[in-house]
Amino acid sequence: MILFRWIFSKRRGAISYDSSDQTALYIRMLGACVIFKQLFSRDVRVRSQVGFEPDRRGSHPYLGVDFRTLHSRAESAGSIPARRIRRLFSFQRHLLSSRLLRGAPHLNPLHILDEDYCGQAKCMLEKVGSWNFDIFLFDRLTNGNSLVFLTFNLLNQYGLIELFQLDMVKLRRFLVLVQEDYHNQNPYHNAVHAADVTQAMHCYLREPKLAQSLTSFDILLGLLAAATHDLDHPGVNQPFLIKTNHYLAALYRNTSVLENHHWRSAVGLLRETELFSNLPAEDSLSIERQLGSLILATDISRQNEYLSRFRTHLDEDDLCLGNASHRHFVLQMALKCADICNPCRPWELSKQWSEKVTEEFFHQGDIEKKYKLEISPLCDSEANTIASVQIGFMTYVVEPLFAEWARFSDTRLSQTMLGHLGLNKASWSAMEPEASGSSEEGESEPGHATDEPSSRVLSQGSQES
Ligand SMILES: [Zn+2]
Repeated sequence: MILFRWIFSKRRGAISYDSSDQTALYIRMLGACVIFKQLFSRDVRVRSQVGFEPDRRGSHPYLGVDFRTLHSRAESAGSIPARRIRRLFSFQRHLLSSRLLRGAPHLNPLHILDEDYCGQAKCMLEKVGSWNFDIFLFDRLTNGNSLVFLTFNLLNQYGLIELFQLDMVKLRRFLVLVQEDYHNQNPYHNAVHAADVTQAMHCYLREPKLAQSLTSFDILLGLLAAATHDLDHPGVNQPFLIKTNHYLAALYRNTSVLENHHWRSAVGLLRETELFSNLPAEDSLSIERQLGSLILATDISRQNEYLSRFRTHLDEDDLCLGNASHRHFVLQMALKCADICNPCRPWELSKQWSEKVTEEFFHQGDIEKKYKLEISPLCDSEANTIASVQIGFMTYVVEPLFAEWARFSDTRLSQTMLGHLGLNKASWSAMEPEASGSSEEGESEPGHATDEPSSRVLSQGSQES
């Protein structure tokens, strides 16, 4: 029985959904019929590969929260079929608009992107190595496909598609699935953040010290890790998952819960799309393992551990980039910088990120209030402001990291980033002089009397990862 039928304009095609076979979607276009079998069953297969079942989502005995709907506004809790249909459209839309990536002339009458927007997005990609790159504008110009377009473009630009003989269809499918597995309802942890981190990673990979020493394999790993580092992020932090007894917290024993999930989700998509099936098995296993090591390094609760290791290497001047393990460590540090580089961007971009991350913090705080859970640090909208959250984050997390990065890579880009960081902090301080003063003095907020400001920021900073 056909439950759902939608006719394209001008009767160019139709999509049918057969309730007797819920793994199949029939698409009829221009006389051809394509059956997307198994696309809908992907979630189940991927979840079972990584060791947990989809029906265990939101396992808090009282909350029963489905994290995919936490930041939902327009969608109802029962919108998963709609999401899957959107994914299909997205894939189709991407294939149709892929001429932008190939630079091929426009031939397909079912194009989605407007010609002018395509041209402007293509122009922007010519300056993809600029620190002023406006990822928000690029996302609009690509119709919400910034992560797919940007990552594909970079892989192509570095010659990695050719070098590793990556199958174009598999690669595009992989990138589309990665993009779709980010929750666009999250104000901050969505695909645009992943695209932004990937663009920042590209800027760091081009820095002389890295460009001279990194191998193509390192670059491939760096870009893939950046694109997938927050995959399927629920929009809440690890302490929230732990205190609500979420199954992910149990699965990963309360340790780097989100980062482990991002990594396993990325591995699930790599295996599902068979992106590296042409490589020897040991190489693809090595990619999976190193991808994990890079993504796990973004756990902000381990910030001091990485930072002191970095500082020791710089003090002793013993980083040897001919050594694979040292190069891997530098990639970890580069990804960590890329992940929290928002305060180092020009004010117009930085301010937007600050607003988005604080919105996500406060949304978590609102849920905690609603269910009478302890409100996490920095998540109480009545006790914090965007400025106070940002000043603490810049002071205790961003400044120490970027100061060491500038020691390692003393370049114009590093100076530019530190310059923006200083100016942005001054701008927030001007809006919130008290917050600036209290951060420096180490004054605690009510309810957190024993907390050091730095530990409060670090514990909540996991939302930035
Ligand atoms: Zn992140």
